[in-house]
Amino acid sequence: MAIAGSDSATARTYAGVHRTLRRQRGSAVGQPCANCGRPADGWGLIAAPTHIGPHPDHGRKVRWSVHLDAYRPLCRSCNSLRDHGGSWTLCPAGHARVAWGTSGGRCRGCRRDARRRERAAGRTARAGAHETAERVASTG
Ligand SMILES: [Zn+2]
Ligand SMILES: [Zn+2]
Repeated sequence: MAIAGSDSATARTYAGVHRTLRRQRGSAVGQPCANCGRPADGWGLIAAPTHIGPHPDHGRKVRWSVHLDAYRPLCRSCNSLRDHGGSWTLCPAGHARVAWGTSGGRCRGCRRDARRRERAAGRTARAGAHETAERVASTG
């Protein structure tokens, strides 16, 4: 049985899904963002992706779903939140987004953790150097 012309049959790729979204539901640009209410700049995936692969234009890894109802209008910052992984409420590392907030689409908690790790690494290196210097001094 042919299902030619069926959108669900053709929307298997990232580009195909977004094409189908625009055809069936129009443009999401300017609609209120499903998360924060600011004007959206496109359709964003709000559910688990069914596919992960390279974007047809820029080749970066993107996630998409063949289920069109998994898409809502999203503003740029909310869309980038999801692009970096995690969920609306938790970042990929499990920081509560409400508590931490984000900066440039990145979780502030993750940025702080990264800085802490750098500082800790620096302290360990300095402590090691100090210890060596002491040992050298005591033997000398
Ligand atoms: Zn938003
Ligand atoms: Zn985080």
